[in-house]
Amino acid sequence: MTDSERSPEADAEASSGNGDANADPGTLADRVENGELRLYELDDHADAETAATARRLVVERRTGVDLSATGDYAFAAEKARSNIENMVGGVQLPVGVAGPVAVHGEAADGDYHLPIATTEGALVASVNRGCSTIAAAGGATARVTKRGMTRAPVFSVDDVAEGAEVIEWVRENEGRLAAVAEETTRFGELQEVTPYIVGDDVFLRFSYHTGDANGMNMATIATRPAAELVEEETPASLVALSGNLCVDKKPAAINAVEGRGHTVTADVTVPRETVEERLDTTPEAIEAVNTRKNLVGSAKAGSLGFNAQAANVVAGVFIATGQDEAHVVEGSNCITTAEAREDELYASVSLASLQVGTVGGGTDLATQSEALELVGLAGGGDPPGANADAFAEVVATGALAGELSLLSALASRHLSSAHAELGR
Ligand code: NAP
Repeated sequence: MTDSERSPEADAEASSGNGDANADPGTLADRVENGELRLYELDDHADAETAATARRLVVERRTGVDLSATGDYAFAAEKARSNIENMVGGVQLPVGVAGPVAVHGEAADGDYHLPIATTEGALVASVNRGCSTIAAAGGATARVTKRGMTRAPVFSVDDVAEGAEVIEWVRENEGRLAAVAEETTRFGELQEVTPYIVGDDVFLRFSYHTGDANGMNMATIATRPAAELVEEETPASLVALSGNLCVDKKPAAINAVEGRGHTVTADVTVPRETVEERLDTTPEAIEAVNTRKNLVGSAKAGSLGFNAQAANVVAGVFIATGQDEAHVVEGSNCITTAEAREDELYASVSLASLQVGTVGGGTDLATQSEALELVGLAGGGDPPGANADAFAEVVATGALAGELSLLSALASRHLSSAHAELGR
């Protein structure tokens, strides 16, 4: 249940401190078991922490499982109301830190630590080795080349002629669409609307600059009145606010080509002796592994990503910093290049659709906001969007570090020994 769906009476009761006069967890759990309350209704009768305790009791009684570790969480349950329903506690993962790594970006400029939450032994050590190589090489260069969170509603029309009429109207009325969409947000700006016709379906892919927010809620909320305007003024009938051409949390070529969220590239040139000393291999061997594995192997497999382990870094940083973990699907859409030059190795990563935010979503929870503070990029930037851009450049540099390290482990045939030593 979202806050907007909660009744005013229940809100008053829950926010009064502990809801019902007899809102101790045991009594509330009894009321659920008697069929008087549903699990999700506990939030209407108690503060969020008491409701979670009662819910845990119910589930413990039903299953006989001891949930005391799940109940031992460090964030304020009240703050998590917009992040979770039927909360019973928190899950904990170990967090490690890689870096510092120097990033010469347009928004990021300095040395950055990278918090990574994972249970994969050897991962943080691997990224850390890549970071120290990049640092020894004088740092990575990074640039955000495109940004835009997308939402693509699907409309039905009678036929393709009617679809073309709708598209014509959209082209002539982008200003009006932007005006109604932007009424819903202080930070979101509609950048473009790209139409697609498939038979009697019309898709309008709305793309927004969303400041420092990931912007998925923002874009969805803003697109609703815009879609309604299309419906009012054209023959189109809205079928679904999301028509899967957005495309959210599904592997898709459109995100790889057109981008979604932040499109960001990081690169580095590493002197030959640094490659030899720190990575125990040569630029030529790294190039060969990258070509045959990341490019040829990925092409043969029909992969969308042409990389070694971008998802590892993206997922680890996303979980540590309160990003939407399901956005790893698009976020790890990365092409890695490596080229042996005369006295150095050139390496790059290009992440087409990295969805990051330094405000909103889960970024404000206790450990997640601490992790963003550790990076030095918590909260809104000046101007809005500067922190999210810088964070995208830092994450891309972390992905580059992971690629360098894993490619060299493969090139020097150290991969299985590192996992045997650190991961088991
Ligand atoms: P959000 O937390 O819903 O919105 C961000 C909020 O931050 C907005 O209220 C915005 O103000 C405010 N804000 C304050 N300072 C800002 C700044 N400097 N830059 C940008 N915004 C600023 O989060 P969101 O980023 O829009 O969406 C991410 C969430 O959406 C995640 O929790 C994700 O799991 C979820 N999600 C939703 C959908 C969906 O279909 N709705 C799909 C996938 C994921 P304004 O309100 O004035 O803009």
